[in-house]
Amino acid sequence: CGIVGHVGPVTGTGSDRPLTVLLDGLSRLEYRGYDSAGVALAGPSGLDVVKAAGKLEGLRTALEEAAPAPATAGIGHTRWATHGGPTTANAHPHRAGHLAVVHNGIIENFRSLREEVEAAGRVLVSETDTEVVAQVLDLDFSERLALAGQGADAASVLVASMRAVTARLEGTFALLAITDQAPGVIVAARRSSPLVIGLGEGENFLGSDVAAFVAFTKRAAEVGDDQVLALSADEVRVWDKEGAAVEPATWEVSWDA
Ligand code: GLU
Repeated sequence: CGIVGHVGPVTGTGSDRPLTVLLDGLSRLEYRGYDSAGVALAGPSGLDVVKAAGKLEGLRTALEEAAPAPATAGIGHTRWATHGGPTTANAHPHRAGHLAVVHNGIIENFRSLREEVEAAGRVLVSETDTEVVAQVLDLDFSERLALAGQGADAASVLVASMRAVTARLEGTFALLAITDQAPGVIVAARRSSPLVIGLGEGENFLGSDVAAFVAFTKRAAEVGDDQVLALSADEVRVWDKEGAAVEPATWEVSWDA
């Protein structure tokens, strides 16, 4: 139901910045309603996922216990269940291999995709349409990484996977993915579900609406239907579904946080 993303400097102080941003964003998205919440953080020491059924307070408690490692990129989600009950297992982010994914929307063809990933040996741990997408994406990503060989730019490979996989999806989605193979980026895509970029100084944001990041930046950029994007601390790149670069329209949010 609600999405927030943050990517900041790879080195330097303030390594708890992603978590601060994610929790602020999620609490500002609470008005949309939700039944569970979670975050995933990627950094030099890997990928952490922490989630909890119920209110954000439960997520805060789970985070205190989990004490995730310092991170450079983070994604957060408040869920309004459509496929699978409001349990912690069904809460986002969903982890698959090297990836963690959050999703707003509904994937109509998740049944056939689920058969495909199960046939490939993947074991699903939730009842959601989203986890199926996470698995399809990770299968594609692993394959492309193996083909690209040593020294491959994992962020570009993930962009290629996101383009290929979203082309196969039917339904609506705002999708964000982070990976321990490229912990300084968030790769995202959308179709018919809202997603907005927040442009910062040495950090960048994503939100299902500007409320998610308005406390940190008022500069916003548009994401069009079927566009794929990659955010790092100092760069935002957007492509159309054919892979041609797009210059997103930007505006100033006139809203006091
Ligand atoms: N269809 C997904 C689920 O049920 C996403 C729901 C949402 O947009 O919050 O997990």
